[in-house]
This record gives sequence, C-alpha cells and structure tokens, in this order.
Amino acid sequence: MCPAATSSCSRPARAALVVADKVPPNLVMGVLGWKQPALLARPAANRHDTRPSPPHIRNVMTPLQPPRGTHDLIGEEQRRHAHVVATARGIAGLYGFDEWATPIFEDTRVFARTLGETSDVVTKEMYSFDDRGGDSITLRPEGTAGICRALVTNGLTQSLPQKVFYAGPMFRYERPQKGRYRQFHQIGAELIGPAEPLADAEIIALGWHILAALGIAGDTALEINTLGDADSRAAYRAALVAYFAAHRDALSPESLDRLERNPMRILDSKDAGDRQVVADAPSIAPHLTAEAAAFYDALRTQLARMGVPFRENPRIVRGLDYYNHTAFEFVTDRLGAQGTVMAGGRYDGLVQQMGGPATPAVGWAAGIERLSMLLDAAPAAPAGIAVVPVGEAAEAVALDTLQALRRAGLRAEMAYRGNLKRRMERANRIGAATAVIIGEAEAARGVAQVKDLGTGAQSEVPLAGLAAHLLAEAGR
Ligand code: ATP
Ligand code: MG
Repeated sequence: MCPAATSSCSRPARAALVVADKVPPNLVMGVLGWKQPALLARPAANRHDTRPSPPHIRNVMTPLQPPRGTHDLIGEEQRRHAHVVATARGIAGLYGFDEWATPIFEDTRVFARTLGETSDVVTKEMYSFDDRGGDSITLRPEGTAGICRALVTNGLTQSLPQKVFYAGPMFRYERPQKGRYRQFHQIGAELIGPAEPLADAEIIALGWHILAALGIAGDTALEINTLGDADSRAAYRAALVAYFAAHRDALSPESLDRLERNPMRILDSKDAGDRQVVADAPSIAPHLTAEAAAFYDALRTQLARMGVPFRENPRIVRGLDYYNHTAFEFVTDRLGAQGTVMAGGRYDGLVQQMGGPATPAVGWAAGIERLSMLLDAAPAAPAGIAVVPVGEAAEAVALDTLQALRRAGLRAEMAYRGNLKRRMERANRIGAATAVIIGEAEAARGVAQVKDLGTGAQSEVPLAGLAAHLLAEAGR
C-alpha cells in the first residue's frame, strides 16, 4: 500500500504509459536528456499493466504535482491573499507596528524548546530535518518563536517596547482538509515589552480592526479567557487532574498521556469523546489569584472602552505552552471544523526561554487562507491600458507611449505582434479598460485614438497630454 492518498498512487504508472506510448522515445530523451532508451520501451502487451513503473520512470515521466497540503496562489486566490496582507499591514501601521521578516527555517531548538513538548505542533506536526552540515533545522510552524529569537539575537531586548507585524508561510505536517494545509500563511502581530493589560486590549483591538477593514468582523466572534499566572495555574492544574482522573475511562489515549504531562492541554482536544468530558470540566475562575483576576478585569474593561465586542469562553486554551494570562480567539461558523481564524494570547516567559531577559509580551496570528475564504468577493483584477500600434511605422511611437504611461504610474501593455484585430482581441482578453490606438497617421500627427472598451466611445488625444488625460479618466 502506498502510504500517501490511494488515488495518487495509481496515477504515476498510467501517466508514464501514456507518454511512453505517444511520444517517440528519442524526443522524450531529447527533452529530458535521457541516456537509457531501454527503460522507456515498454512492450505493447504490457500497456494495461497498472503495476507501478520503476521509480526512475515514474519520477521523470509523471507530470509533477505540488506536495500534498500545499497550493499555488494564482489569479483570484492570489489577489485575495495579497489583499489580506496589504490590509493587515496598513492597519498594523496605524497602531505603530513595524514589519519584520525572519527566516522560514530555524534551529529546531527554537521551536522544540518553547512550544511545549506535548503540543500537537511539536509531537507530530513539525517539518524537521538535518541539513547537509548535520544541523537540525525546522521549517517554522508558527511565527512567534522566531520573532522572539530575532529579538534576542539582534539585542533588541534593551529597546522595548517592540511592536512587530509579520506575514509569511508556515509549515505543519497535518492532514490536509478545507482550511488546513501543510504550507499555509499567517499574518501576525507581537507587542513585546509591556506587562499591562492595556497592551493585550490594544493588540486584540488591532486584530478586530483588521477583520473590520476586511469586511469580515461581522462573521467572527471574539472569545476571551484567562490562563492566569503561575500560582493560578498550579491550583487549576490540581483541580483539572482530579476531575479528569475521575473520568479517565472516557478519555482518549492521547489525553490520558496529557493528564500526566499537561492536563490543561486536554481542554484543547479535538477528540469527540474528550470534548464531552471537557464540557463539564472545572473553570479556572475560582482558582485565579487576586492579581490574575484583576488583570483579566482590566482587560475586559479596556476592550469595552475600545468598543471591541467579546464574549468569555472559559474553555479556550492555546495550543502552545508558552501562554499565560490572556488567551483569545476570533471564531467563525462559516468555515466548518476549521472555525478559528485568529488566535493569540500573552506569553511572558517565551523571550527568557529563548535566552533573553524576562520580557512580557502578547500577540496573535491569523491564517490568511481562512481569512481569504471569508472575504465576500475577491478584489477585481486590475484593468489596464492596451497600446495598439497599427502598421510598422507606428510601432516605435507606440513603444515610447507605452513606457511614458508606465512612468506615469499607469498599468499598460502592448502585444508583441499581430494586426489590429488580433491586438484588440488580446486587449479584451487581458481585461484592458482602454485601448490607445496609434496608426501611422496618428504617429505622424502626434496623437492617439483613445477607446473606452466598455462603452466603445472613442476620442483623439495628443500624445503629449495622454498620460494626464488617462490619469484624469481613472480619477487619479
Ligand atoms: P487549529 O486548532 O485550527 O489547529 P491552532 O491552534 O493549531 O489551530 P495556531 O497555532 O493558533 O492554530 O495558529 C493561528 C491560526 O493559524 C489559526 O487560527 C488558523 O487560522 C491558522 N492555522 C493554523 N494551522 C493551520 C493550517 N494547518 N492550515 C491553515 N491555517 C492554519
Ligand atoms: Mg493546529
């Protein structure tokens, strides 16, 4: 049995046969630079043999697919993605956040040390490998650990607060499904330095503001909780262990393991049986110290003052170990099982775990794919200008015009060849809003015919004022 999806297992053999049957072996070899003709020449009697081809044939002949759980961003999908990032970047700027870009792979210890040895990410989702120098490398499964590593490495723990925005790919070995991929993308924000609950409120307000700017705040609900401080957690842990131990029989094997090592993590289990037990589990509220309760009160007050609607959900814990005090999620019911679009909390211990001084911090991350799916409409493809020369003598003038329009900030294209009809067809195909037609007579007189491809209206415009005319038309 092939360990990957069964459907993809039979494909390589068939594809290899089709190509080998239809394309002359010498051509295939010419294209691929192959040296072993015997490997290609399958006997005709074997044509319907569905046994897998030898690996060297499969590898070379099968049309390559993207790895499972990854996807290409093209056309509308890419426009949605870019719109999410640009919108988030803009709003983060309003809140005084600067963008950082850290490596997409890090020393494995950056994650293994900090995310928690019982977290799903560390136990089963990390893409880790030894590189050619023998160092253990991990493709980042999340952004926060790398940002804290960068804070320490760049000596920035002495210049706090740091307000960091980031966007980029993350990698987790998960079972791919709608809204869950192996390479996915996140935007995220970290506010490093302040210990005050106002910082928690501000970073949540930033997240909410971004969702509002994307037009999807109404599709999501903010749920908040507190994980308390160390003393609150110790008391809560004891209560949880007592409760879950009494329901030991109903727990999944994974949660039984968590019971020993990290009982709070059971609250985050996705197992149906576990979830029933979790429904009646004790809350942290009665175990909070006076300080932790005051912190949570202040957060709620500040959020209300900032006009950010929220509800409390005592079941929220974060999937990673480094959180304390505030935990929150923006959830939606529009994405099926993958209902969390943005998640975060306070992580006062992480910078120290990374080798820096004790440094309070709070942040969140949001899945760009999930945000993109919530957008009502994809941003429209940009409509540009098609420059259309008619006749050879007009081509040089058309090329000068093309570059002048681009220098003026207008999106303009010119087909590489073709008569008027072909070039107009091409203009329509690329979704041009306007055609600038320059025939030999126009070139000689220094003018162009400007045609609105929507209405068909046409007017003559001097080339010298063309860019200004088109900018005015575009309302710029
Ligand atoms: P989940 O409970 O859905 O597995 P998580 O707790 O593992 O989420 P975080 O580590 O908090 O997720 O990541 C923050 C956000 O990143 C999530 O709310 C989600 O929007 C997104 N995200 C996480 N894992 C994936 C994935 N495999 N594919 C797509 N988006 C993801
Ligand atoms: Mg997860």
